[in-house]
Amino acid sequence: MSIVTSSFIPPQRTLMGPGPSDVDPRILTALAQPTIGHLDPLFVDLMDNTKKLLQFAFQTNNALTMPVSAPGSAGMEAVFVNLVEPGDKVIVCQNGVFGGRMQQNVERCGGQAIMVQDDWGCATDIHKLEETLKKHPDAKAVAFVHAETSTGVRNDAKALCALAKKYGCLTIVDAVTSLGGIELAVDEWQIDAIYSGTQKCLSCVPGLSPVSFSQTAIEVIKKRQSAVQSWFLDMDLVMGYWGQGTKRAYHHTAPVNSIYALHEALLILHAEGLQAAWQRHADKHQLLKVGLENLGLEFVVKQQDRLPQLNMVRIPDGVDDALVRQRLLNEFNLEIGAGLGVLAGKVWRIGLMGYGANTKNVDYCINALSQVLVKS
Ligand code: PLP
Repeated sequence: MSIVTSSFIPPQRTLMGPGPSDVDPRILTALAQPTIGHLDPLFVDLMDNTKKLLQFAFQTNNALTMPVSAPGSAGMEAVFVNLVEPGDKVIVCQNGVFGGRMQQNVERCGGQAIMVQDDWGCATDIHKLEETLKKHPDAKAVAFVHAETSTGVRNDAKALCALAKKYGCLTIVDAVTSLGGIELAVDEWQIDAIYSGTQKCLSCVPGLSPVSFSQTAIEVIKKRQSAVQSWFLDMDLVMGYWGQGTKRAYHHTAPVNSIYALHEALLILHAEGLQAAWQRHADKHQLLKVGLENLGLEFVVKQQDRLPQLNMVRIPDGVDDALVRQRLLNEFNLEIGAGLGVLAGKVWRIGLMGYGANTKNVDYCINALSQVLVKS
């Protein structure tokens, strides 16, 4: 076995895929600060401030708001393992890859996933959800993905949650790609459990998953009949570490430098303001849309259901998907995303997330694509 003994020096890429997105240099500087102890009083203060900034980003007063020390998939798992017990019925709306992962999570918790299926590229049909809620009055929760990264579809989180609440269900929302990129209001929309990721519209490094649980969700967790099957993700235990006011009990060693980075990312979002950040994503999407359509590329998702931060376009007939992406990477240091699942080979997914949602990236991408498409 031959071991490479030189340090790894990554190239300077422009990341316009489904994530990770370009990281703001300010965040990389924060990441490189000296590591301090995770129970150091200064770090405990930083944890408290990070929680407050997350409450701001999620638009919630939920006390149980914190970053899980692992990527978005762990936030997803944290939500399901805490809220779903064997035998529970959870209605899962699926219109892409990540709704399918919710189904798997429910089933691995011993629950029954009742699926509301819509075509990939279309938004969840609220009427189908209502029919399903009527058929299953004993459902405990409704779960869906706010921003379906696999297709670039925005599901109407406000309306879906309002409907779920009308039928007495808990609401579980995947906000991995939505947080910081499009409107999201956890308290106003009555979201009971939500998870996100750091590497999309927060433009932070991958590896953390902000989560938030409502008081109703906490009561459900407290009344569980069975112990949470994951020790690491048991919110009762994690709260002893991340809880406010009380003495911190060691649970695990927080990824100290990653928390510096998340804190910096949230400071940047706070300084810009949520509405301004959402508007910037919308504006840059418009710019990209004009450029892509000028190149003859068609959007797959209907205008009103499109995410500004994830743009899915059809690959023109006769164009070699892999070759185009390879040339963009090798000749332009530009990453765009391939299609997933049933859309593999048929679409490209172009991300405009966080720090990367800027005019320079849009122009760069359009210029690179125009050169590569002519030659491919
Ligand atoms: N949910 C959605 C909508 C995502 O886009 C992703 C990642 O792309 C995840 C969950 C999983 O997040 P991670 O890859 O950080 O584990």
